[in-house]
Amino acid sequence: MPLTPSRTVDELSELRELTGDENGAQRVAWTETWEGARDWLREKLDGLPLEEEIDEAGNQWFTLRGASERALLIGGHLDSVPNGGWLDGCLNVIAGAEVLRRIAEDGEPPVSVRLVNWADEEGARFGRSLFGSSAAAGSMADQDELRQKRDADGIALPDALAEHGVDLDRALEARRQLEGAAAYLELHIEQGPVLESMDLPLGVVVGTFGVERHLVTWTGQAAHAGSTPMDKRRDALAGAAKLELEIREIARRTGDGAVCTSGGVVCRPGIVTSVVETAEQLLDQRHLDAEKLAAMLAEAKQASDRFAGEESIDASWSKIWSIEPILFDPQLILLADEAITEVAGRSHRLPSGPLHDAAEVARAGIPTVMVFVQSLRGLSHTKLEDTKPEHLELSVEALDRLASKTIDWVAG
Ligand SMILES: [Zn+2]
Repeated sequence: MPLTPSRTVDELSELRELTGDENGAQRVAWTETWEGARDWLREKLDGLPLEEEIDEAGNQWFTLRGASERALLIGGHLDSVPNGGWLDGCLNVIAGAEVLRRIAEDGEPPVSVRLVNWADEEGARFGRSLFGSSAAAGSMADQDELRQKRDADGIALPDALAEHGVDLDRALEARRQLEGAAAYLELHIEQGPVLESMDLPLGVVVGTFGVERHLVTWTGQAAHAGSTPMDKRRDALAGAAKLELEIREIARRTGDGAVCTSGGVVCRPGIVTSVVETAEQLLDQRHLDAEKLAAMLAEAKQASDRFAGEESIDASWSKIWSIEPILFDPQLILLADEAITEVAGRSHRLPSGPLHDAAEVARAGIPTVMVFVQSLRGLSHTKLEDTKPEHLELSVEALDRLASKTIDWVAG
């Protein structure tokens, strides 16, 4: 049977019925519902000449053996956040299954083709995203922390994993899965408004943003709101307020997709009759270019020093978290452009703000690219998440063409 993109839409609906409720998708990793989704996928692929394996990190692999041991990987994740959408992660897997059917139908491929359903991309239950892919990529380095993690019911992460046959101490043995990998492809909903605003169904992801996350603590002096003249105040909130406006300018000046966000400010004493003594300000800066990201951070720090001087207050910075930008493979970006142009007439290149399993695979040195399909209203991680069925079908076609081109590239 030739590629049947409408089947992907039907199967997505079927999975939604099976694993969702009136509040949305409930396929949280390391739960019965998630296990049920894996069983469902296995049944869907029954009858194809595939070898299935669940690896040491809980990733589910289906391998179509080719003439060569080198492999094209197509990946996604069936797990969802609680009350999640019907497409995030599972579109990638189910479209990949359709492509695998088409390739299997054509006879032995020149290289092996492997579909992977990564375990626990979302980190919804234990707060650790990209579990399975980071284990396979070898970048997982937080086993000691993971051992201590508990879910909302107090169940320890290692115990929850053990119920699904995963031994945390052995998770990194999943690294062997990437040994023969020659390329990795991932289709995903955009989860943002860019493609919809450009009226384009599909785009090529050039990489994932680097992120700098910091806590800026401003320290002034609490003082009576009635008795302290305006020119005698050391108002910590004034520093935070100035910085919040300045980071918009920093992002605007830097351009090329730069984003800066002050996601929260906590003021103390936080009462209506006192000047603010301390303001703790959250700052998140993102860029696809490592140098520009570093420059944005430096500019924000310089600005904070200036504002501290102006307001006679102190500013101190502490890092919460950071990750470098991860760029996808130039040749695969070209092939994805071609595939999208063939099925949709026009392609567009864009960065990804959220991280994805693809970023872990790319970090491991495997040539990687992602394709985004338009998200309606840019919504995700909610039952309102949606994409037009005709765009879902186009995305399956684009993934299929990209897979063919990539097989030729890898085999050639
Ligand atoms: Zn996802």
